[in-house]
Amino acid sequence: MKRLKLNPKIELFWWRLYNNAIPSNFLLANRRIGSFYGCPRCCELVEDNNHIGGQCVKIRKVIALINEWGLYIPVYQCFEDCLEGLQKLIGKEDLAANLYCTVVWMVWKSRCKLIHTGKEDSDNSIAANVISYAVQSNFLNFQLENWDTNQLRLSSHWHPPPPGWIKINVDGALKKNYRAGVGGVARDDKGRFLLAFGNTLQQWDAAQTELCAVLFLKNVVKEWMFEAQGVIIEGDNRNIINLLQKSIKNWKVSRAIEDSLAFLLDFKQVVFSYSSRIGNNLADICANLSLEGSFLWEDLLDNSIPPSFLHCLKEECDALGGS
Ligand SMILES: [Zn+2]
Repeated sequence: MKRLKLNPKIELFWWRLYNNAIPSNFLLANRRIGSFYGCPRCCELVEDNNHIGGQCVKIRKVIALINEWGLYIPVYQCFEDCLEGLQKLIGKEDLAANLYCTVVWMVWKSRCKLIHTGKEDSDNSIAANVISYAVQSNFLNFQLENWDTNQLRLSSHWHPPPPGWIKINVDGALKKNYRAGVGGVARDDKGRFLLAFGNTLQQWDAAQTELCAVLFLKNVVKEWMFEAQGVIIEGDNRNIINLLQKSIKNWKVSRAIEDSLAFLLDFKQVVFSYSSRIGNNLADICANLSLEGSFLWEDLLDNSIPPSFLHCLKEECDALGGS
């Protein structure tokens, strides 16, 4: 647990859970303090460690929501499975483990609120809080290796960011005749358009194009974006995303960051993530359009936006099933 660098409150909660020291209805009934064994939400199910640690329907719902935002969280059948599973994640998929521990803690907190006030937090607000907590404890240092192992399931389509966040997809395009460009598109948690850009590159190097796309963000980010809860920068070149994660990690240790990346520190939180080509489709369109000339769109009514872009934007938004 120490290695997960959890928020101290969450670490303490898990330590208590492990030591059977959480006042669940099962524990209270066993000690003759209460008579009801069940979970206050899932009445007929006994509220023991297995339940609090993962079986509760509330935990499943919150996890399902977070998965929809494109972050992977595992589910476990019982508490023993859970401890074993978390152990396997440590060092490899710290983010997934951290998110899981935070979900369980927040769902327990919400359960106590339910007992005391008769009301509890919505699945949505718990899920959004979980993301903020997990990011704070890993500030600018997200490990998203889990995107690789679960790529087939996760990246088959574009995922919106959590509420209050912005996601910026970036991509590079190369043509044989020495032409290259970068492009990207920023959207909110409902998949709504915020801005898109494309920029022709003067010179290029195959491996560097996608990195250029990220660096070019410096020229297009708007002041108001820094007010968002955080920003997820997503690309489909695994090497580049890994490289960026590494330099951010170095920053955390040495407080030194390359000048070209320093603008990222203005955001409240930054997460780099890797997606499949399909999940990055709209950024790919922007990068290819940039070969015809640079552009910056901040309004969908902009006459220069081609139908191919609008069509793809609408499709990805519709796929979310929301507004
Ligand atoms: Zn329950």
